[in-house]
Formats: sequence, C-alpha cells, structure tokens
Amino acid sequence: MGRLEFRLPSYTVVGAGALGELPEVISALGCREALIVTDQTVRRLYGERVVRGLAEAGVNARLYVISASNMDNVEAARRVRAEQGACAIVGMGGGRSIDVGKYAAYLEGRPFVSVPTAISHDGFASPIVSLKDREMNPVSLFTRPPDAVVVDTEVLAGAPRRLLASGVGDLVGKVTSVADARLARLFKAEEVPALALEMAESAAEIVLGNIGEIAAWSERGLRLLAEAGLLAGSAMSVAGSSRPCSGSEHLFSHAVDKVYPERRSLHGEQVGVGTIMMAYLHRMDWERIREALRAVGAPTNAAGLGVPEEKIVEALTVAHTLRKRFTVLGEGGLTREAAERLARATGVIG
Ligand code: ZN
Repeated sequence: MGRLEFRLPSYTVVGAGALGELPEVISALGCREALIVTDQTVRRLYGERVVRGLAEAGVNARLYVISASNMDNVEAARRVRAEQGACAIVGMGGGRSIDVGKYAAYLEGRPFVSVPTAISHDGFASPIVSLKDREMNPVSLFTRPPDAVVVDTEVLAGAPRRLLASGVGDLVGKVTSVADARLARLFKAEEVPALALEMAESAAEIVLGNIGEIAAWSERGLRLLAEAGLLAGSAMSVAGSSRPCSGSEHLFSHAVDKVYPERRSLHGEQVGVGTIMMAYLHRMDWERIREALRAVGAPTNAAGLGVPEEKIVEALTVAHTLRKRFTVLGEGGLTREAAERLARATGVIG
C-alpha cells in the first residue's frame, strides 16, 4: 500500500451569519486582495454586501461573473486575477462558480476559499473539479481541496429547495459508492484508505439519520447537510480520488447524461435515483434511501426525473462502460432484461 498523505481545508466556518467571517478568513491567509468568482444571481443577492464587508476589513475584492463551468471561464478568471494582482480566489455560488474558482486558483498556485450558496452536490469542500471541455464532454480533475470553506446556513436557507434536495441525493449516494469500493477491494485488491471510506459512509449516515430535520430545512438541518458535504469532500482528499464518493450510482448518472443529453434533471437527482437501484443490487436497504429522497422532495423515479423509462433502462445497460472503475455492475454490466427488472423492482419505472 502507498503512503497516506492528504490535505484538508485549514479553516472552516459553518453556521448562521458565517458569511460575515469571510474577511477574517481571507486575512488569515495573509491576503489583502481577492478575486471573487460568482454567477449573476449570486452577485445580485450577495455581491455588494460581501465586497463592502471585505473593504471594511481592509481587503480589496473584485467580482468576476462567470456564465459556465468551462476552460474559457477558467482562463478568463486567471487573467482577471493576474491583472488585479489578487493573492486569493474565492468561489461564491453553486457548483459552477466553485469549480471555476477552484481550478483557476489551482493553476495559479493561489489559495482558494469555497463559499457555497447552495449544496446541490458534494464538490464544495472536495479536491475535484468538474468542467465541460470544448466538445461539452464532462471532465473531472483531481486538484486540491479549498484552503478555507465558509458555509452560511442563512444563505443556504434562501437557496432553491430543489438544489438542496439534489445535494441530499448526491450525499446518500455514498451508501453505494462505499459498498462499491469495498467490492473492488474484494475482487480487484483495490485499496482505498479505510479512513476515506468511513468518512464517506458517515456523510451518508448524517443525512439518512437526520432526514426529518433536513427535510424541514431548519437551521440545524442545513448545518447537518453542510457537515455531510464537508465530510464527503474530505473523504476524496484522503483517498486521493473520487473513489469513496463515486461508484455505480454515479456511473448511472453519467450514463443518463450520455443517453439523454436533453435531460433537465440535476446531477444529485440522478445520483439519488441511481442509489436506490444500486442499493437494491448490493442487497442493502434501498427503501430507506427512497424514503429519504421522498422526504426532501427529490425524485425517486423516471417520471420525477423527467427521463423516459426506456432511457433509464438504456443508461443501466451502458453505465459500466463509462469509467474504468469496478462496481456492483461488474465488468459485463447489466443485460437489458436485468436492467428492466431492476428498475421495475425499485419502482423507478412503472
Ligand atoms: Zn456527485
């Protein structure tokens, strides 16, 4: 086994009003000039307030609005940072702003501060960057975890419920991704640090064990969701890959992206439905997963996702080909009949 070596965020603030701590967090990095990568909506809601708060603390900040998470936006953010002479980059918003900011900071060798305004997936504290290349294909890159993470639960409370429910879907997915990693150890002698698996498993358990509170979107519920996200992100840092947090349920989601590109469903929503089915294959308590998703209003079937039933079946049959990663789907994947039976048994198709 290789040596265990990892980085984690060195400064994390989670709670009501945490955004007010941002000046202190940036100052603690020894920085007086920051570039904030954000999107149009988040800029309108919080941009001015954040820039003013930073100015009062002696930190000069500039907002840079992105339109998509692709390399063009990353390169543009790098240019703006260099012109401004900013020593740190802040990603403030949903997944896209955080991905672009994280990757720009990594390429520039600068500290990165992650400020999620919604938790729609597990990327806000992870070392992984998900971008689209010029052909619109998804690219997943292992970079560095954020140096600091600031999660304001009052800000999360204002996020669309659908985004937060999608985050629940991505986080309950750790039930099957961890089970897949354990299978890979048995069948392929693939080693993933036990610490990483325990962290990822606990992330799912925080969500499943507190689903009532999370579904109420209370201050405590939002905080628990953030804690689960922090734990999942850290699990990937410890593992040195997305392995503990991305198994067959993610393969299913990537397969849906591929066989049904016109989809409107979110990543975490697809992962949630995938988790129901993969938990069934693992002979785990798949109904508990479905109940949790129902409780937060996340989709649990094809109709809920807005994906045609035949596309669900097709996605199941090709999922194993999308990445060289051993999972419960095995090397040969599911036959059409098996895929249909699985989707029917779990109520994903009628
Ligand atoms: Zn995910």
